[in-house]
Amino acid sequence: MNNVDVIIVGGGIGGLSTAFALTRLGLKVQVLEQAPEFGEVGAGLQLAPNCTRILDDYGLLDKAKSLGVVPDRMVMRDALDGSELTSLDLRDLERTYGYPYMVIHRSDLHGLFLEACRTAGVELLTEQRVTAYAQAEGSATVVTEDGTTRVAPLVVAADGLHSVARKLLIDDEPVSSSYVAYRGTVPIPELTRPVDLSEVVVYVGPRCHFVHYGLRGGDLLNQVAVFQSPKALAGLEDWGTPDELDTAFAATCDDVRSGMSHMWRDKWWRMFDRDPISTWVQGRIALLGDAAHPPLQYMAQGAIMAIEDGWVLTEHVKRLRAGDGVPDWDGALAAYEAVRPEHCRRVVLTARAWGELWHLDGRAREQRNLLLRHRAIDDYSFTDWVYGPTALFPEDEPPMFEPIPLASADLIVSSSQAG
Ligand code: FAD
Repeated sequence: MNNVDVIIVGGGIGGLSTAFALTRLGLKVQVLEQAPEFGEVGAGLQLAPNCTRILDDYGLLDKAKSLGVVPDRMVMRDALDGSELTSLDLRDLERTYGYPYMVIHRSDLHGLFLEACRTAGVELLTEQRVTAYAQAEGSATVVTEDGTTRVAPLVVAADGLHSVARKLLIDDEPVSSSYVAYRGTVPIPELTRPVDLSEVVVYVGPRCHFVHYGLRGGDLLNQVAVFQSPKALAGLEDWGTPDELDTAFAATCDDVRSGMSHMWRDKWWRMFDRDPISTWVQGRIALLGDAAHPPLQYMAQGAIMAIEDGWVLTEHVKRLRAGDGVPDWDGALAAYEAVRPEHCRRVVLTARAWGELWHLDGRAREQRNLLLRHRAIDDYSFTDWVYGPTALFPEDEPPMFEPIPLASADLIVSSSQAG
């Protein structure tokens, strides 16, 4: 008998943040991570107010801010001519939502949760690859590669894009976007171009985009270059290679091209998501984070959704504990599944559409640019449903923004051309 309340499979940001949240309730939580060490590969993460609100609830926001950067502005520019298309005043956004928009190195955020888990008493085990799951009355079982079986009243599968647990619910595969991401972090003194570290900047261009922002109190610049791989479209195995990176950004403005020399060239990330699913729970096994809803990264909400999942699940466990402290696990899982899949479905599908908008070419690109230049800077109707407080119940989920009908884009283009 394992003698824990919750087993969490996967020690990424989703698994660790959930482990920490549940342990704060006094529950005994065990995390099983397949890797030899807990850690994160990659570079920066953007954390919107719907995440910093939760970090504040966990007592971790001040530390996160001291490790990251709280920028003043988020700016969208055209990648070909460098012109500004639209922006968000992040100070005003913080006043609007009550919590900051910040950026942080993903290993710093992961390390923050790891440290919080250690301090709170989470049992953290490495080299524990879970290969099988089973249900029993009032509990669930996981089996690790070495044949060890562990049982708990609740198993949370936070095992990422290639989740083993997801196969219990659906036999699907990751969906390739044919886009690939290159990343790179550069010490500021090594930069050959001036960069305003008070801004998060995204340059959007035909079949490509480029993002940069400061990290670690402004000591580092984080860069992400994303493009559509012609080799992926042609069905070749070897896609997203550095020669494709150079070709994809050849026609972009000087600022973007000068960033290319600082990208890591020995590692790249092919971009996959999965079609949304509405069932995340089977008996006492629940999916969480990328295992449930891996998105394309265009809304910068993947890690945030994982953190929100853990917060929502924990709030329902807390709400549904009996006087003797024993949680109504089935009730909490039902409440979790009633609210999270629909929110995450919207984010996953909006991220796909947002990516298409960023990567437009020709006349469609001109239409997009005109629409974005007409957007009022203080119009938060596009962000309220994402950056507002995380809903605990379906009725609290804010309505999504109404997409602008394409016809109005044509109207703006024709009237500006006429004038
Ligand atoms: P993962 O991070 O994949 O963690 C899963 C863990 O489970 C891993 O540690 C893995 O080793 C372990 N594991 C897997 N299988 C098993 C098994 N069978 N047994 C035991 N352990 C197992 N999100 C944001 O919120 N903001 C951003 O700005 C942002 N930018 C991004 C930029 C890029 C280029 C990319 C690619 C993604 C970005 N994301 C962003 C998304 C974010 O990185 C992910 O959504 C998030 O890390 C998912 O966390 P997770 O814990 O669910 O999964």
